[in-house]
Amino acid sequence: MKIAVSAETFPGESRVAATPDTIKAFIKKGFDVAVEAGAGKGAFISDDAFAGAGAKIGNGEAALQDADILLSVRRPEARTTGSLKKGALVAAILDPYGDRPGLETLAKQGLTLFAMELMPRITRAQSMDVLSSQANLAGYKAVIDAAAQFGRAFPMMMTAAGTVPPAKVFIMGVGVAGLQAIATARRLGAIVSATDVRKATEEQVKSLGAKFVFADVADAATAGGYARELSAEDKAKQAALVAEHIKIQDIVITTALIPGRPAPVLVTQEMVETMKPGSVIVDLAVERGGNCPLSKPGEIVMHKGVTIMGNLNLAGRLAGNASPLYARNLQNFLDPLIKDGALKIDWADEIITGTLVAKDGELVHKMFKS
Ligand code: NAD
Repeated sequence: MKIAVSAETFPGESRVAATPDTIKAFIKKGFDVAVEAGAGKGAFISDDAFAGAGAKIGNGEAALQDADILLSVRRPEARTTGSLKKGALVAAILDPYGDRPGLETLAKQGLTLFAMELMPRITRAQSMDVLSSQANLAGYKAVIDAAAQFGRAFPMMMTAAGTVPPAKVFIMGVGVAGLQAIATARRLGAIVSATDVRKATEEQVKSLGAKFVFADVADAATAGGYARELSAEDKAKQAALVAEHIKIQDIVITTALIPGRPAPVLVTQEMVETMKPGSVIVDLAVERGGNCPLSKPGEIVMHKGVTIMGNLNLAGRLAGNASPLYARNLQNFLDPLIKDGALKIDWADEIITGTLVAKDGELVHKMFKS
């Protein structure tokens, strides 16, 4: 059986879906591994390092030809997947909510597609959870980006010439990215506050030494650990609280997402206009419509003295860390599916039903049924 690792073609994507360590582990389990030449370049892994782990290095088609499994970071392009074996397993961040015709084309090639971002939030799957491994880095990078853009310092400094006040940082959405953003901003010496619509986050925020800001809304936690959309009344309550709080913030990092829905608007244009000149907003939800209507994907927007950063793929900009974590997530996902050097998939397992998007030419996930 053959595993192929593709070089990413998605604009700006520098991560890679395997490392020399994960390749060694697959070879030990009886697989041949082929890596597309240059696949690891953006993550600082040379072809020689992959070859040293036992992979064959090939150009495009040659690497993917007749593979039983394709590992990639982003949804692969149909023009490259034609040379995989019929029914080949593809594990990637497939963006199942986006570009449905493109996904159908891959399904029609007969590929067995697994969307890693649909991994169920269950204990057994924690080590396979790509959203967590990547969001953690994104939360860190968001604060670093904000600090680099901010024309003032984060920590308080008392000097003979006067006192530099600490920056006030407000984190909106306390999931994996938000928690790391809180921790990073605290390490840099900022005064940090945070909000979420899941009440369970209060304890987490406080344990990191930040202040919890919570509107009197119904707990929006769902059984899967994600948030649901607020009612219109609760949205208004939250907006009123945020409007008051945001006026005195220097940095706002927004991370709020609702699975399968556009990101909720949390920072309106009116709120931005109440912020002090020099303030910085980093909108981590920009790829899903944004938590601030002024943010633009991949751009830095100036609005009345406030900078709104719509940086894309923050984890990908830390590819040297993001790739090993992502590659290990994939290895942890595949390991239980491999028995005696071959794939033996339990199609009823909730990890499989949760992530399986296409099989036998059809889109099969429940998200496509309604
Ligand atoms: P996410 O990326 O889906 O959303 C980010 C945060 O935004 C969430 O905390 C969400 O509650 C919040 N949010 C949504 N709407 C909001 C609004 N209107 N205002 C303010 N905040 C809003 O979340 P995530 O990072 O994927 O994490 C969701 C939860 O799942 C967390 O509790 C996390 O610890 C948990 N989790 C569990 C596992 C596991 O058990 N395997 C793995 C990873 C994460």
